[in-house]
Amino acid sequence: MPFYEYRATSADGCRHCRDGFTKLQKLAEEPLDACPGCGAPVERVISAPQVVSGKAHMQRPDNIEKHGFTQYKKIGQGVYEKTAGTGPRIIKGD
Ligand SMILES: [Zn+2]
Repeated sequence: MPFYEYRATSADGCRHCRDGFTKLQKLAEEPLDACPGCGAPVERVISAPQVVSGKAHMQRPDNIEKHGFTQYKKIGQGVYEKTAGTGPRIIKGD
């Protein structure tokens, strides 16, 4: 589920919405039009999605396994140890 960012459209919101707040919502859920704290009108702020790119090695091992990947970590000169997935436990590169 994505996080959506909301901000009060007027200056008379509470502290919560004046500075903006995030809310975890289902994609199908209707966007909020009022602050849940004070009822002031709010609008959804489109923020950059949190995309994981080029950092596959930063992924959590259980996540990697779930997607059918195998992850190795370098433990020495040309030697890699498996941290997730299926495959040989140790790979030697030379
Ligand atoms: Zn508010």
